[in-house]
Amino acid sequence: MENKKYVYLFSEGDASMKNLLGGKGANLADMTSIGIPVPQGFTVTTEACNKYYDDNRTIAPEIVEQIHAKMAELENISGKKFGSLENPLLVSVRSGARASMPGMMDTILNLGLNDNTVEVMANKTGNPRFAYDSYRRFIQMFADVVMEVEKKHFEEIMDEMKEAKGVKLDTELDANDLKELVKKFKAFYKNAKGEEFPSDPKEQLIASITAVFRSWNNPRAIVYRRMNDIPGSWGTAVNVQEMVFGNKGETSGTGVAFSRNPSTGEKKIFAEYLMNAQGEDVVAGIRTPQPIEQLEKENAEVYKQFMDIVNTLENHYRDMQDMEFTIEEGKLYFLQTRNGKRTAQAALKIAVDLVEEGMLTKEEAILKVEPKQLDTLLHPNFDATDMKNAAVIAKGLPASPGAACGKVYFTAEESKVAHEKGEKVVLVRLETSPEDIEGMIASEGILTVRGGMTSHAAVVARGMGTCCVAGCGDIKVNEEAKTFEVGGVVYHEGDYISIDGSTGNVYAGQIKTVEPEISGYFGTFMAWADEIRSLKVRTNADTPRDTAQAVKYGAEGIGLCRTEHMFFEADRIMAIRQMIVAKDETSRRTALEKLLPMQRQDFIGIYEELVDRPATIRFLDPPLHEFLPHVDEEIKELAVELGITFEELKATVDSLHEFNPMMGHRGCRLAVSYPEIAEMQTRAVIEAAIDVKTRKGYDIVPEIMIPLVGEVKELKYVKDIVTRTADAIIAERGIELKYMVGTMIEIPRAALTADEIAKEAEFFSFGTNDLTQMTFGFSRDDAGNFLKHYYDKGIYESDPFQRLDQTGVGKLVEMSVKLGKQTREDIKLGICGEHGGDPSSVEFCHNIGLNYVSCSPFRVPVARLAAAQAEVKNPRK
Ligand code: PEP
Ligand code: MG
Repeated sequence: MENKKYVYLFSEGDASMKNLLGGKGANLADMTSIGIPVPQGFTVTTEACNKYYDDNRTIAPEIVEQIHAKMAELENISGKKFGSLENPLLVSVRSGARASMPGMMDTILNLGLNDNTVEVMANKTGNPRFAYDSYRRFIQMFADVVMEVEKKHFEEIMDEMKEAKGVKLDTELDANDLKELVKKFKAFYKNAKGEEFPSDPKEQLIASITAVFRSWNNPRAIVYRRMNDIPGSWGTAVNVQEMVFGNKGETSGTGVAFSRNPSTGEKKIFAEYLMNAQGEDVVAGIRTPQPIEQLEKENAEVYKQFMDIVNTLENHYRDMQDMEFTIEEGKLYFLQTRNGKRTAQAALKIAVDLVEEGMLTKEEAILKVEPKQLDTLLHPNFDATDMKNAAVIAKGLPASPGAACGKVYFTAEESKVAHEKGEKVVLVRLETSPEDIEGMIASEGILTVRGGMTSHAAVVARGMGTCCVAGCGDIKVNEEAKTFEVGGVVYHEGDYISIDGSTGNVYAGQIKTVEPEISGYFGTFMAWADEIRSLKVRTNADTPRDTAQAVKYGAEGIGLCRTEHMFFEADRIMAIRQMIVAKDETSRRTALEKLLPMQRQDFIGIYEELVDRPATIRFLDPPLHEFLPHVDEEIKELAVELGITFEELKATVDSLHEFNPMMGHRGCRLAVSYPEIAEMQTRAVIEAAIDVKTRKGYDIVPEIMIPLVGEVKELKYVKDIVTRTADAIIAERGIELKYMVGTMIEIPRAALTADEIAKEAEFFSFGTNDLTQMTFGFSRDDAGNFLKHYYDKGIYESDPFQRLDQTGVGKLVEMSVKLGKQTREDIKLGICGEHGGDPSSVEFCHNIGLNYVSCSPFRVPVARLAAAQAEVKNPRK
């Protein structure tokens, strides 16, 4: 049997081999085949990387053998030889995964240098400064990346030398200085590692390839993968490429180029270069690069060739390209190309332009914009210049995107007061509860110590479009003292902090925020997405204001109206509390009578904003204790207001205490105990619909949703209350009004018995927050605390509360769809858990045939685009 092939020359690969060769490797092969001047080399495959991990982090001898064999072929191609004293070959070793992960993994340049080859290089080029500069860079990079001796030590040694010589710039060190520096570097290395710096290029090569494989699992790569939905099982390829030198003197140089402007999307080549430099100098910003237009003056011929190649590559890949190039003694090389990263504004403009230029179809263009990127168009961001000096003091979960800067306040009440005085506020809490709602509305941003992506703070902040960092365990809050401490520094009430809800970063002090600009390209692009998609997009909204916002962002209805959120408003909380402390049905009904007109008015407001888009109204869900205070002081105050004794109220609070409230007396269980609550809510929904229908003529079909059902009989029990109440009102008014009753599928038992449930439910809406919580058996509010250990250990790659666990929870959803349709062919299916706004979960919902997804207003455009992409990948129409 022939051995498996783990190593490919650039001339042996092609563009279709991205999974095996990585994006960079496949593109280098492709560029080679279309005649772009690419320094030649070979790619060690992603399969070799996976095998490295399977083999307990070692490269198997057969792969080592294949690497050496390809190296010999590369020697033939280049006419140079590894370690040769006549014509030494030097190479770069770089990572290249299937998806580009800029800056996440490691790179080594100038490999092949040692005390002998450096001299040959010096003599051959007549440029000893260049040779020793390359050598010291190599030692530095190899020590850092391969042997984990930090780069900063070498920088310190270099700084000492510059100081001793009285010079400022690296370029002011001459050949002898650099030779001396190399000696110092090697001595430091020997001291740190207890062995000589390796001089055998073959040994250097294998060690470097190993280091790149290892870097696939460095912490920043793991975090990047989690944020970008890249599976750890892909592995990275490694590219070994002949070095060309941009630091060979004044006819050499190096630079980066974008075929269009990556910030604005403008159709104009955007490139910068530095003469007499190597790649890292351009990126590091020590010297200021020149705009590419300058090259035309310096070398018109190379300039023309450069422009031609950039255009060729863009036309070939039919997308904006990000390229690295080097000019070695007047000869131009392209070292790599990839589809360029770009801002959201640029992404939209480029996608629309490419369609208008006839380069892409609308369907292809739709795939060019990352749905999550649209977030940045809808929220304020930090000013880029201000950000340069900002120091991250802590990191939490990126719970709700956007940027906020303000004074720290520790209670909702104080936040509200400060806001009314015109201050900008960042509310810092251990965690938020429904009582904090007004303080949350008054804040620019919310920072919590505890809680995950579906915690109260996260869900409510996303709904309001307010920036939120949740679960930031780095900070220690002292609510009494009104301070928090992080990294030995204590922050007081009134101190400024800035938080970034898109990254989870917390910064000390003030960073300017800038409002996003929405261009015409957004409208054009989103219209294409709507034309393409078949999956509908609704929103989770509880107020007319949020509804209006969501409609503006393209929501096609409400998929979840959490009615309890309405009860926390200052003018209602008393009525609901009266209902809770009521001793009997009669006094409970009296309290509910007070709530009825308010709740009806809320629904009228919502229906008016929706015009005739549908709305799913969910009945009361949280455990009742959430509406009551828990501190004696507050219980005392409330007792006075309610006209009962402290002891009485305290006894009620105690009686409502549950060890597991999320699995306790909540959801439809409340309506089973107190049917009058469901009656009042039905009345409010139906009367509001009749009111708006008769006044405005809108075609309203209320969808009433019963939460937390696990057994068809409990659904039937509550449904009977609903239909009895609704039918009586409709008959009494003598009006035509259709309505539907359905349920959430959020308890595993409901999923398992979905065929039964569908006998009573006209629609299912998957409540994947609770379904995830109960399927995994971990609390949606606390899991963040330990999930990070699971990411570090590679057990989970992403937060299942954020990205639907398709294998487990998804299986329950899929099963419910099948069972539900068996009973009721035309059953309406949607999702209203937080996953409804997550692109990969939206794709899953499309694939299993749901009718709609529902998400917070600001994520509606994200879901619209994700749904269109899902349609392009797997057409349903
Ligand atoms: C859910 O459980 O997914 C859901 C949408 O309901 P809530 O988040 O209100 O529990
Ligand atoms: Mg739920």
